[in-house]
Amino acid sequence: MITPKCALCDKDITEENDTKEHLIPNAIGGRRKVKGFICESCNNTSGDVWESALAKQLNPLSLFFGISRERGEAPSQLFETTGGDKLKLNLHGSMDIEKPLYSEAPLESGAGVQIQIKARSMPEAKRMLQGVKRKYPQVDLNELLNNAKSESSYCSDMLKFNLSFGGHEAGRSIVKSALALAVSSGIPAEVCVEAKNYLKNEEGEACFGYFYDSDLVKNRPEGTPFHCVSIKGCNETKQVIGYVEYFGVQRVVLCLSDSYEGEDISSTYSINPITGEELSLAVELNLSNEEIREAYDYKKIPDGSVEDAFDKVIPAGMKASFEKEKDRVLSEAVKHVFENCGAKEGEMLMPEHINKLTGIVMEKLEPFILHQFSQSRKRK
Ligand SMILES: [Zn+2]
Repeated sequence: MITPKCALCDKDITEENDTKEHLIPNAIGGRRKVKGFICESCNNTSGDVWESALAKQLNPLSLFFGISRERGEAPSQLFETTGGDKLKLNLHGSMDIEKPLYSEAPLESGAGVQIQIKARSMPEAKRMLQGVKRKYPQVDLNELLNNAKSESSYCSDMLKFNLSFGGHEAGRSIVKSALALAVSSGIPAEVCVEAKNYLKNEEGEACFGYFYDSDLVKNRPEGTPFHCVSIKGCNETKQVIGYVEYFGVQRVVLCLSDSYEGEDISSTYSINPITGEELSLAVELNLSNEEIREAYDYKKIPDGSVEDAFDKVIPAGMKASFEKEKDRVLSEAVKHVFENCGAKEGEMLMPEHINKLTGIVMEKLEPFILHQFSQSRKRK
């Protein structure tokens, strides 16, 4: 057995410095890990930098689809709405105002000031009210706190997503993923000259390009925004080529090597980042070196093709956030009912409880139902 060498620094990989490397970055929902690919020190340095660049670019999509990760959550992000407000979008679809609002105006009667406070949470409201107390010691803090209301509402505007793909750090993360799959499928890293050259040298030529000319995924599941990494080593054409697709919309072809002399190998790994479940996809990688080169030169992006790719997965994201919000609202409604209808947990519901139920349920469900109604009218 030959000792594997780190694909990035060529050091021998030993039991001491071997690491488990996510084939697709965990930050965007990847699960499977490979060993014997890069050493621990490379994993912690360049690997991390490239992956965070990629995760940052794709974060709007991670939030929109509500991906599940093994470690941590996709970070909240600030977006501008079509109405010009700034809102922070959180992973499970909830939104916060950008910053707390404070305004102070003298009363018309001249007998005092009116203060308005909007905070993102009750603790924040408390902190702000304590500030008011310091400025106006005569106010009754407890009375103010008792009168504070927690309100939530749906955003009727749309959020403006500004997506951009590319750049060398995110690009290297994509190439690294394809190389990791090649190595774990039995193609030695040393053979993948183009990929290694790009990963190891700051000035190395990029060996990937965007490809929307035709659909390389032969059994594309309708409306599922998947992640997929696929490689193929071909003895006859001497190529090791790869395909990486994220969220159904970022589609990249790569040439890892054009001097391959090993046996024919192909391998594909794909998952649904919303559920984390693995998918079984068939990717057809029969591209000539010329076609791949054209992709490097942005010549494989026909007009409207990127928009088409988005159109196919956006409904899935809308549905996922609808389902999540529906579940959240329903479970909150049930909790609210039990807290307010007078029955104790585990007790039989009596007619007087049941009479109260509909009203209490509607209190919680109404904003959701009205929002869905106005959204569907807007769409029409
Ligand atoms: Zn290394």
